[in-house]
Amino acid sequence: MTKLDGGCRCGQVRFRVTALPLVAMACHCTGCQRMTGSAFSLSAAIPSDGFAVVEGEPVIGGLHGATRHYFCPHCMSWLFTRPEGIDWFVNIRTTMLDEPARFPPFIETFTSEKLPWATTSAKHSFETYPPFEAYEELTREYAQSLAGNAD
Ligand SMILES: [Zn+2]
Ligand SMILES: [Zn+2]
Repeated sequence: MTKLDGGCRCGQVRFRVTALPLVAMACHCTGCQRMTGSAFSLSAAIPSDGFAVVEGEPVIGGLHGATRHYFCPHCMSWLFTRPEGIDWFVNIRTTMLDEPARFPPFIETFTSEKLPWATTSAKHSFETYPPFEAYEELTREYAQSLAGNAD
């Protein structure tokens, strides 16, 4: 069974992942550049019942909009996102996992906004979001790639 722990920079907030991601991604959008203070964000979409905060109380930061970005209240690390109108998965920042290399990006989004020198190993690139009808095939292909690298 999957059991992966992660947390913020200072350790006040800890979370646990007990389900494999639906997909792992890098996002090059300027919002992610600003919130990470880096070239792109790294995340994995975890089914909601496979994600739990086990220590601390994350607070909302970022845009404080319909998409909720959760941060540690003390060190202000960006930990996970609950996208607008979606309750069946949580986007966790894979860099916050205790094994940060575990889920390399499979897709990359918003390459239209990427820094000219920023590259990732993602297999599929999209100028903005993938078209809605592409998700089923992408998640199927990603599940196969995870099965191929099973422990
Ligand atoms: Zn912290
Ligand atoms: Zn982004």
